Amino acid sequence: MVTGPGNSQRLEGGSPLLEVSELVVHHGQLRALDGVSLRVFPGEVYAIIGANGAGKSTLLRTISGLHRPSAGSVLFDGQDMTRLRPERRATAGIVMVPEGRRLFGSLSVEENLQVGTAYARQGPWTIEQVYEMFGWMRERRGQRAAQLSGGEQQAVAIGRALVANPRMLLLDELSLGLAPVVVQRIYGMLPQILATGLTVLLVEQDVSQALRVASHIHCLLEGKTTLEGRPADVTADLVEAAYFGLAGATPGSRAGEGGGP
Ligand code: ATP
Repeated sequence: MVTGPGNSQRLEGGSPLLEVSELVVHHGQLRALDGVSLRVFPGEVYAIIGANGAGKSTLLRTISGLHRPSAGSVLFDGQDMTRLRPERRATAGIVMVPEGRRLFGSLSVEENLQVGTAYARQGPWTIEQVYEMFGWMRERRGQRAAQLSGGEQQAVAIGRALVANPRMLLLDELSLGLAPVVVQRIYGMLPQILATGLTVLLVEQDVSQALRVASHIHCLLEGKTTLEGRPADVTADLVEAAYFGLAGATPGSRAGEGGGP
């Protein structure tokens, strides 16, 4: 089953779970993020889209503490995380599934899942619970991760993040290198994950996939916001203009608020 925008809601009335303000991140001389701000509300699926090199992974990695910003702030549940180390953020509830899965190939499926428990919070997710969700994983728990297919490795990477009992799951390019049918299967797990009270911030290069699952999309181009809004409020033309930097999308325009062309 594929989720739709109606499956997660944006409850702007309450406080955001994550609030990123005016984030600037450099890689050497390169200004990879240039004043990016966003607010993610509890229970929603917030999708960052953008072309290669737009700064999507840099944004996720900065939120999880792997890059240090030159300016700006990251607040999580009202607490300033900007200078905290990644493991402190994990114990606060921010956990990432990195681009490319990054499993330990020589370790078994179960050993990879155990890695995720290192900074685990109390919560509903256990290794047993992950096996309940991905039935095949229990039977293959002794198999080396390197022997799994790309889709199976992605599932283990998600499981490893879930056993840390995050409040917010950061998903970096889940669909990378996977067949469409496998991508659908992986995204089909989102409702089950959201049902346990999680909030999801994801990066997705496949725009139609992002529009299908997200309650809010945010497009980056060369480190800047070019569009943000609810999928229902953006047209294909608006997204295309924001994605490729064509005339028609003004930097930081907000769909549904009179910012579009
Ligand atoms: P992709 O979809 O290709 O992963 P992206 O939108 O995630 O792209 P980033 O990976 O965040 O983009 O990269 C943004 C820019 O920063 C790119 O120009 C990239 O080459 C550069 N960059 C990213 N990581 C580093 C790094 N560790 N050192 C130097 N430059 C980097």
